[in-house]
Amino acid sequence: MENKLARVVILGGGFGGVFTALDLGRTCTVTLISEADHFLFTPMLYEYLSGEVEEWHIAPAYKELLDESVNLISDEVTEVDLEAQTVKLKRRSESLPYDVLVLAVGGVTNFAGVAGAAEHAIPFRKIAHAQELRQRMVAALDRVPPDLAPQDTQRALTFAVVGAGASGVELSTKMADLLRDAFKRRALRGEARVLVIEMGDKVVPGMGGDIREFVEEALRESHVEVHTLTRVVCVTEKTLVFEHNGVQTEIDTAAVVWAGGVRVSPLVESLKVEKTNRGLILVNPTLQVPSHKNVFALGDIAFYKDATPTLAGTAQLALQQAGLAARNIKALVSGDELQTKHFEELGEAVSLGTERAAVLAGGKAFGGPLARQARFALYTARLPTWHHRLRVGASWFFDGTAPRPLLPLGIQR
Ligand SMILES: Cc1cc2nc3c(=O)[nH]c(=O)nc-3n(C[C@H](O)[C@H](O)[C@H](O)COP(=O)(O)OP(=O)(O)OC[C@H]3O[C@@H](n4cnc5c(N)ncnc54)[C@H](O)[C@@H]3O)c2cc1C
Repeated sequence: MENKLARVVILGGGFGGVFTALDLGRTCTVTLISEADHFLFTPMLYEYLSGEVEEWHIAPAYKELLDESVNLISDEVTEVDLEAQTVKLKRRSESLPYDVLVLAVGGVTNFAGVAGAAEHAIPFRKIAHAQELRQRMVAALDRVPPDLAPQDTQRALTFAVVGAGASGVELSTKMADLLRDAFKRRALRGEARVLVIEMGDKVVPGMGGDIREFVEEALRESHVEVHTLTRVVCVTEKTLVFEHNGVQTEIDTAAVVWAGGVRVSPLVESLKVEKTNRGLILVNPTLQVPSHKNVFALGDIAFYKDATPTLAGTAQLALQQAGLAARNIKALVSGDELQTKHFEELGEAVSLGTERAAVLAGGKAFGGPLARQARFALYTARLPTWHHRLRVGASWFFDGTAPRPLLPLGIQR
């Protein structure tokens, strides 16, 4: 393979794909294929829901981030032929050939086969999901007249979040704070009900005890009802049934959000390569797929042994792997030796409602409004390009990051 002419095709424009493309620069002929036309900084999707950040802050178009030398294709990859070295796209009849392939298509929401969940629960992985949830919250508030009795108001404004991992607690505290603010502005009686439902025995099971204390305190302060050791049995358009200690309870819901896990997509399922029992692609310490040395896999779809276990399925890992993938692709095409790397946890930061956050940095956990500011600063530094970091950082600094209220439809700003 001759360096510049090597055709590197990257599937997926998330953390793994975009950062690989950025790190490759102009060293190869790079094509990035993604269903969307924009990158998404997922750790701030909660702030997009609450209006603390704008769409352009966290979802910049690929063409703003990537050099014009990168060939961008907005399409869905439907098939990969590892032997013929081609990929098939939904909207193109001809297959696209590659010399080096980067698999970075990320995961999809895992509804775990719960009846009605895929049809009626809202996933929370994309800008469109946050928009749908916000609209559902506004629509539910708009249906409630101010003189309605508190218990009826609460029944009409009950929201359930499934899963109490980082995503579920960030989401539920954000929703509860937004709703509390909306109650005041609209002079509604009583309060909304936000439940977080978790199969395990504690919230944020993947996080350490220090940060969990801040999370539990925030859940209490935001009046989020936590139901641990509880299983969701079914979801319908307007209800949810859960089971705890063998007893089933049905509640009315204005919306159910599914933050209950991630699984690999059908595209990854279709690949005939070595995988773990969860369907993750087993990769060498160089990120190469063992059976196909010109194929690299990273991020949420890959199982990489040499990383702190808590990093699995995180942007932190995908981002760090992208640097290694780009370096190794350059080495592969120029006949140099490929490298390996150990990946460490870079710290944790969870947003807790609209006023505070909790951050674990350098082994120390801290919380409150200061942690919220620290999280914004930390995430500015992790945005994909210097240009974008500067624009977003300036916007947060000068225009502020106050939430956007859930105003009645028609007077949304
Ligand atoms: C709401 C939310 C909050 C999160 N918060 C954090 C956090 O605070 N910290 C953290 O470390 N991690 C966080 N994560 C996890 C993090 O987002 C993922 O681990 C990370 O995005 C994985 O990167 P990836 O490149 O593997 O996949 P992704 O970033 O998911 O990118 C996959 C890309 O591939 C595209 N794609 C998928 N299938 C196809 C196809 N067939 N054809 C074409 N394109 C396709 C997708 O549209 C997407 O652009 C969060 C995730 C979510 C959903």
